[in-house]
Amino acid sequence: MGYNIAIDGPSGAGKSTIAKQVAKELGFIYVDTGALYRAMAVHFLKQGLTAEQPEKIIPACQSAEITIVYENGKQQVILNGENVTGMLREEAVGNMASRTSAIPEVRAKLLNLQREMAKKQNVVMDGRDIGTNVLPDAKVKIYLTASVETRAARRYNELVEKGVACDYETIAKDIEERDRRDMTREMAPLKQAEDAVYVDSSDMTIDEVTAKIKSLVEQEEA
Ligand code: C5P
Repeated sequence: MGYNIAIDGPSGAGKSTIAKQVAKELGFIYVDTGALYRAMAVHFLKQGLTAEQPEKIIPACQSAEITIVYENGKQQVILNGENVTGMLREEAVGNMASRTSAIPEVRAKLLNLQREMAKKQNVVMDGRDIGTNVLPDAKVKIYLTASVETRAARRYNELVEKGVACDYETIAKDIEERDRRDMTREMAPLKQAEDAVYVDSSDMTIDEVTAKIKSLVEQEEA
């Protein structure tokens, strides 16, 4: 069994930035589980499906073969033999992932893959249901969040830096909508695990949050 650290929280809380840094400093593997839901979304979009067609999405799950490989330490997601990593951050893909992740068959398809990865190696895994459902025995669990305003401002600044035209209000609404979908779905909704440590990163730097998580690991090992 690997040493497992679970980081859950809503969209834009900084989970991937933090999880990557913690993994690097501890020499662990970083597993971005959102990328798996996004790869499933790419699979559905490639077939011209919409989120309103669960009767077609459910059987389509069966033909998605998803694997993770690492290139120079960076996670790459392979969907039916094709490296789809470059497509995963597209807005349409994120939207489709947020909707289709509520479908139990989609979650069931990805559960084993996540557990197998954590069994074999030391991982920092981020997502929505890692501490509550995927790795209930993780040694350290964090529920990382930040206010909607902070998360929207971070996303806005990220897009502006990339030169992408965007509107703060639209981003904030989209974040609220994704929170609602993640927190209210029936299967494995986003919620803090009872034994998770709550961290609000609104007024914390990346280094401060990383140090906090590393101190929890040290405490747990002591
Ligand atoms: O974290 P990220 O934005 O990449 O995740 C994409 C979508 O996948 C989220 O909107 C969420 O609905 C879903 N997801 C999930 N469970 C996870 C990780 C992501 O439901 N463990």
